[in-house]
Amino acid sequence: MQFFLRKLIRYYRHNVDENLNREEGYQQSFLAGFFGLMGSIISFFTALNSLSIQLYSLAICLFLVSALLLLSFFILKSSTYKRFHNLSRYIALLGLFSLGIYLINSGGINNSGPLWICIIPSVTFAFLGLKLGLIANGVFFVISSTMLFFPSDALLATTYSYEFKTRLIYVFLTIVALSGVYEAARHYSFMRLKSMKEKYEHQAQFDYLTLLLNRRGIQKILNKEHQQRKLTNNVSTIATLDIDKFKVINDEFGHEVGDMVLKHTSRVLSDCIRSQDSLARWGGEEFLLLLPETAEQEALILLESVRECVEKTPFEHGNISIFITLSVGLCETSPDVDFNETIKFSDISLYRAKLAGRNTVFAYTPEL
Ligand code: GH3
Ligand code: MG
Ligand code: MG
Repeated sequence: MQFFLRKLIRYYRHNVDENLNREEGYQQSFLAGFFGLMGSIISFFTALNSLSIQLYSLAICLFLVSALLLLSFFILKSSTYKRFHNLSRYIALLGLFSLGIYLINSGGINNSGPLWICIIPSVTFAFLGLKLGLIANGVFFVISSTMLFFPSDALLATTYSYEFKTRLIYVFLTIVALSGVYEAARHYSFMRLKSMKEKYEHQAQFDYLTLLLNRRGIQKILNKEHQQRKLTNNVSTIATLDIDKFKVINDEFGHEVGDMVLKHTSRVLSDCIRSQDSLARWGGEEFLLLLPETAEQEALILLESVRECVEKTPFEHGNISIFITLSVGLCETSPDVDFNETIKFSDISLYRAKLAGRNTVFAYTPEL
């Protein structure tokens, strides 16, 4: 049995898990799919059992529920019906609610059937979350108490004692309350985890000092651009920008002022570039700029204006005024050259710009 269960869970994970939309109601859909598969198998065998003891109407009801649950499972399994994944949760619940109503009405085997409604609250909250779960449980409560307490038992095909009916409803409401509190706590921790994840993801992609993208952040954009380039064959340019003689600023004014100069330069650079360009702090006092859909000649003009912009905007702090200059190396991407290789070439151009006396822009040429 344990072996069979493990196989089932593995099969489910392989066939359904991959197809699920991880953003919307992922947890609920995952549970619904699993419940659909398990519930369908259990209700099928219970239906066979009911057939063997000649409880034909119960058997038909169980077969129908089994089919509904199987349907919900297959919707989740299929990638063709992806847009119906959410709906499958409702299909599974419809099956469960119908079975509960039928069991209350008929009493099942020796009037023990209604006891199964105790699984409804937790399953409903797991499928629908807190708000919708409360509404659905409320609807089931109204339907079941109306059936149980309708004058002269007109809505029942069997007879229950008054004590059984009241205890059944009390137990149902208690489980609704407990499962609701549990669901609220789960939802709260889920939301906390989600916001922590977003915070750490943001921290992992942005530089804490300049608030620009860091290496990791720009790498993501470069990869995206690389994919795009494969489809469109567009030309982009990558530039490396390095503050000239930054060490002197640190030595003369201290590390703290050095940090402020870095922040200032980042702000000036961000203001000078176009909205479609991506700027990152590549390391230390070096920046990387991606100019999408921009050929070398256009990039040279743009970067010359960026260099001028930085040169003309000195850092002012109290009575300190620090003039900053940049050396820039750039390289146009070509379809057969990897982005990392292009970054290396723009680094070579930057080195040449430094050798040429700094405060200048150099485009890459294989040989000088
Ligand atoms: P070059 O014109 O050749 O680029 O000279 P440079 O002085 O700018 O280059 P070098 O590589 O010799 O020195 C870079 C300095 O940048 C050394 C390092 O201490 C400083 N630096 C790197 N990161 C930071 C930082 O986050 N804050 C501060 N204040 N300084 C930094
Ligand atoms: Mg430098
Ligand atoms: Mg440097």
